[in-house]
Amino acid sequence: MDAYHTGAITMKCYICAKKARTTDAVAICIVCGMGTCMEHTIRRDVDIWEGGYPFPAQKIGKKMPRMLCQECNAAFRE
Ligand SMILES: [Zn+2]
Ligand SMILES: [Zn+2]
Repeated sequence: MDAYHTGAITMKCYICAKKARTTDAVAICIVCGMGTCMEHTIRRDVDIWEGGYPFPAQKIGKKMPRMLCQECNAAFRE
């Protein structure tokens, strides 16, 4: 009996949940870790952070897409 490791738990969009909607998350914000649905996911091409969460510490030296929630995208403006 190990209900915590069945892999059957589906993450829901946090932003939708706050609006009393239930939408499956399609991405996870790389900053705060909340699940977001297609509608609420913002994709940005940003520099790799050396040793940055959630990647292990290593130099990659290129841009790659990252998924952000709306709140973190707003905080991410350069
Ligand atoms: Zn949503
Ligand atoms: Zn976020």
